[in-house]
Order: sequence, then structure tokens, then C-alpha cells
Amino acid sequence: MPEIYDLSLSRVAEGLRNKEYGVSEVVESALARIEATEPKLNACISILADAAREQAVRMDKQGPQKNQPLWGVPVGFKDVICLKGSRTTCASRFLENFRPFYDAEVAVRMKEAGAVVLAKTNMDEFAMGSTTENSCFGRTANPWDLERVPGGSSGGSAASVAAKQVFAALGSDTGGSIRQPAGFCGCVGLKPTYGRVSRYGVVAFGSSFDQVGPLTRTVEDCARVFAVLAGPDAKDSTSARLDLHPEGLPEQDFVAKAGRGRSEEPADTLKGMKIGVPDEFWESGLTAEVEERCRDILKKLEGQGATLVPVSLPNQKYALAVYYIMASAEAGTNLARFDGVRYGRRAENPADLLDLYVSSRSRGFGEEVQRRIMLGTFVLSSGYYDAYYRKAAQIRRLLLRDFENALDLERGGCHALLAPTSPCAAWKFGSLSADPLTVYKMDLLTVTLNLVGLPGLALSAGLGRESGMPAGIQIMGRPFDEAALLRLGAVIERLAPGLGEPAGI
Ligand code: GLN
Repeated sequence: MPEIYDLSLSRVAEGLRNKEYGVSEVVESALARIEATEPKLNACISILADAAREQAVRMDKQGPQKNQPLWGVPVGFKDVICLKGSRTTCASRFLENFRPFYDAEVAVRMKEAGAVVLAKTNMDEFAMGSTTENSCFGRTANPWDLERVPGGSSGGSAASVAAKQVFAALGSDTGGSIRQPAGFCGCVGLKPTYGRVSRYGVVAFGSSFDQVGPLTRTVEDCARVFAVLAGPDAKDSTSARLDLHPEGLPEQDFVAKAGRGRSEEPADTLKGMKIGVPDEFWESGLTAEVEERCRDILKKLEGQGATLVPVSLPNQKYALAVYYIMASAEAGTNLARFDGVRYGRRAENPADLLDLYVSSRSRGFGEEVQRRIMLGTFVLSSGYYDAYYRKAAQIRRLLLRDFENALDLERGGCHALLAPTSPCAAWKFGSLSADPLTVYKMDLLTVTLNLVGLPGLALSAGLGRESGMPAGIQIMGRPFDEAALLRLGAVIERLAPGLGEPAGI
């Protein structure tokens, strides 16, 4: 008999509905798993054991609720998501003791769907970073190898899901922070189309980039959580006034077509499907093991009837620079609200108002966050605005045009584009951290989708031959067509070599 924590979200939700076990049993199983693995991982900032246990007792008394798709399922939230009454820190000394008095919209939706929030997960401070080393609560380890980074900035969410502490976790993706850690830890991560999921109550990093999305153990689980999160929200003026895919919820679609029967993939499942292979993503210094795993997937997709089409995204070469200019500019602006007056940490005995600002901010923010604020302030300063920010905004538009061309179905474009999520697998702690620029370069393959606002689904392509670590592959698709990504993702999940258990725990 597998332990309850071993089951997928879809399976555990079904078991709860059928009263195979109660919510308390599921919560206890997850808590025991957290207790066993957390000393090695440090994936959680807060473990909400008491509240979860109380909620479980209440739910068990009430019995399964048919209209709550995640009824009784323990989940984690990245600590950038406001949860009423619970500490929401963004892994920053600034907000170490901040307790929001309201729920983020995504938290409301997850609760309404019946999920039990078991943990607030570790992250890079204010979501800035690619390793989860920039956290004032210490780094999170990768469950596949405790000497390696889990990726970032949603590294706590990815590690927690991969280690089976929770059945799903929410992350946020501004430049890859869901997809990259999902790839590094061998789980599934979806960055929805910009505007698909409400940002209300999610502490802002880059407001024109940020999207919340699920990290899960399977593609089917990802569809289930996504279906809960997605949809318009009047409290977020950038949320799209669009319901889910016109052909229906991906969840329904999926459970019918793709959720079951792992080995029975008919040979022509993908007949008629055009999958774009953007040169710029495959020729950017990939390690041999990542390239090998991802090319294997391409071959297998061809074997299922898909046509691979070489495509070119000529402005991709500017993406990284454009991202770090624009995201830092937005970050610097968003973080201006942390002034020692309104939220969180306040310096003691300031000499005057300016000293209050300066001391609160110098002590409250870590090194990486201060670096972004300085960079952002510089590119927005009057003498440099035209040379940096304005130029970057123009190139952002050109990049979108590249994608529109590649994905334009009416003119023979592709249904989706495929690329690795990162040029390499998870690296060892400390090996790159002394060199911020090298770490930035590792975001080369993820930042583009945030610049153009399109959806991306990351999942595992198998273990790298050399490092033994998961290699991530990402599907990039048309706006608001997450359903198509999930369908293709389910096929890739069945074709990719299974990962087995994370070797580090
Ligand atoms: N690693 C990227 C950065 O540090 C992306 C972060 C994110 O998506 N939140 O900016």
C-alpha cells in the first residue's frame, strides 16, 4: 500500500470524495512527510499544522462536497501570496512579521475549491532569483540532490511538491520562477497567459510580467488546479475578461482524453499538429545532457505524428537584456512602498524621515533586491530612460511579433513551440552565486514568455545522463490556450522516461 502522501492530487481528491480516507488522515500523512523531509529540505517558511488540523476535523464532520474539486487536499502557497491572518513574508526581513488582513484572490479560489493550506513555501526574496538562495530563512535544497539548488524563485514550492510534502503548490512566474524550478525538481509547472489568473493580493515584482500558477506532480493535477485559479477578477484590472478555453475547462477535457491509461498512447495522437522548434532556444549553449533529453522528446513526438517545424524568433537574442531592464524597473517602482512607514520593518530611532526610509530599506532588503532596485532606478532615470527603458519596451513589442508569426495558425503557423526550460540542470550550491550575471543568464529560455505574456508549461524530459538531475522541457503556446498546452503536456508526460523517487531524500 502506498502512503497517502504518495498519491497524485487527482487520486487523493477522488479517494476523499469516495470516503476511502478522511481529510484528517490525508493532512496527517502530509504533515508526517513534512516532518520527515523538512530538516533536509527547508522548503517551507510556515507550516500551518494547527489550522490545517482544525479545518480537517470540520471538513470530516461535514463530509465530501461535490462542488469543491480540491476538497480536503493539502497544498502549499509560495510566501508571496497573501493569506489572511498568516505570516506572508516574501522571504524578506522587511516582511518577517507581516500578517495580511485579507486573502489573495488565488487563495480565496483555492479555499473555495476545498483545498487545505498546509504550508507557505520558501522562495527568493520578493521572487528575485533563480536558486532560492536569496531567502532570509535560508536556502531550500533540491530533493534530487541536497547539494544542489531547487531553482527559483518558487524553489520551495517545487521542492515541496517533488518531495511529496503537499499535493500541489502555487508559485509565481515573472521570468521563469514556476517553470525553471519545476524543471529543476522534476515536477510540472504552468505559467498561465498574462491576465488569466488574478494578481490581487500577490506581492508585486514586475506587474506586467507576474502570473501565479500551479506546481504539481502530474499534468492532470496541474489542469485541475489551473481550472480553479483561472478566470476574471474584478479586483485586478489586468485580469482578462475571458472564461476558460471555449472548448471547455481543460480539466474536463483532460480527464476524458488524457488523464488515464499511461501506456496506451495511440501512434497518431498528434497527427496534424505542428510543433515549432525555435533555433534561438536550441542554440544557446545547452548542456549536452539537457539537449539530449529534450531532443529525445522531439523525436518521440514526431513518432506520434506531429510535424516538427524549424522556426526563428530573431529578437530572442535581446530577451534577457530587455527582461532585466524592464523587470528591474517595475521592481524598483513596486518596492517603493516598503518605506518603513506603511508595511513591515521600521528602523528604530531614525534621525529624520530620510534616515527612516534609508535605514529601514538598507536593513530590510537583501543584497539581490537592492541590486534590482538600483538597476531599475538607473534605467528609469531621466538621462537614461530613452536609451534603456524605452528601447527595451520597443524590443518587447518586436518579440511579441516574432511569436505571433510563429504561432499564427491561419497562416500556417505552429500549434505550439518547444524548448528546454533552462540551458542546464540544477547546479551545485555556491557554484554560481558569486556571479549574479551568470545566474541571470540561466534565465535565457524562460524570460521571453513573460515579456510576450504567453503561456508556458514546464515538465520533465527525463534525468540528465551526467548529473542524474531532471532536465526540463517547456511548451509555449497561444494566448489563453492553456488547454492545448496541457493536452500536449499529457502526451509528453507519457512519452518521457519516468523519474522515479527523488534520490536526495
Ligand atoms: N530568475 C528571474 C529573476 O530573478 C525570474 C524570477 C521570477 O520569475 N520571479 O528575475
